[in-house]
Amino acid sequence: MKNKVYINEKIYDAENAKVSIFDRGYLFSDGIYELIPYFDKKPFLFDDHYSRLQKSLRMVEINNPYSEDKWVNDIENFVKTCIFENFYLYIQVTRGIPENFDDNILREHAATKNYKTCVTMFYSKIKNLKDNNIIGKKSIIMDDKRWMNCDIKSISLLYNSYAKTIAHKQGAFEAILLRDGIVTEGCSSNVFIIKNNTIKTSPESNLILPGVTRSFVINSVIKDSDYDVREENFSEEELLDADEIFITNSTQGILPITHINNKEINNAECGYITSKLYKIFTEKIN
Ligand code: PLP
Repeated sequence: MKNKVYINEKIYDAENAKVSIFDRGYLFSDGIYELIPYFDKKPFLFDDHYSRLQKSLRMVEINNPYSEDKWVNDIENFVKTCIFENFYLYIQVTRGIPENFDDNILREHAATKNYKTCVTMFYSKIKNLKDNNIIGKKSIIMDDKRWMNCDIKSISLLYNSYAKTIAHKQGAFEAILLRDGIVTEGCSSNVFIIKNNTIKTSPESNLILPGVTRSFVINSVIKDSDYDVREENFSEEELLDADEIFITNSTQGILPITHINNKEINNAECGYITSKLYKIFTEKIN
């Protein structure tokens, strides 16, 4: 494997990259992450990802170890080692390990000590959205059993990965989540529905991750189309009754959903409006 890994200012071959098992990220999921897509080696919406990273750190009160210049500089130097044209950069920041273990306490729930923040980064190959055939995917519906701070990009993705695995076992790509009958988001995406030419997506709140792609689609893609978007809650019934459904995230951009459970949406084809938005989206990449 030619991949490199960044750990606390040093770059390693992936197979030699190691972090402590006493890191609070490993023991308690006490950390946050960010994922920045690069298309043709250029970061897409870097500033939005960077500011969400800073916001997540503030929300969980993890010490931000670097200045903005240092973040930008270290990221630039690290991605220079990447051989792929299209990839995502994964950044994880955990509260880290205690500065010393003099009290011999190796694990305690409360973060009572001074910690060495742990910053890790790696990259992974993705497809350029411009080369992608826009193919509809299946989704199932599941209850949203996550905690109430889904607006933090926490590394604690136990329920998200559990629900997405259930979806996979049922031949679906995503699980769209419902809280009290209202659609929140997907396990790794935000959800948009279209009915009678009006586009709807859940408003920003503690119940969803404020997706960088979601904002871009609302503020740059739909703005440049003939359609309007409403940031409003919608129900399971509205989801199932939609003319078109699509989900958004950083690596896939806009992805049509053509089945919910076993119900076909738009005769199991990517809808007209979704394809138009996808086209505008890809034209705006870099
Ligand atoms: N919601 C959840 C729960 C996610 O995990 C993600 C992305 O991983 C998104 C939404 C989409 O966010 P973004 O567009 O910033 O990738």
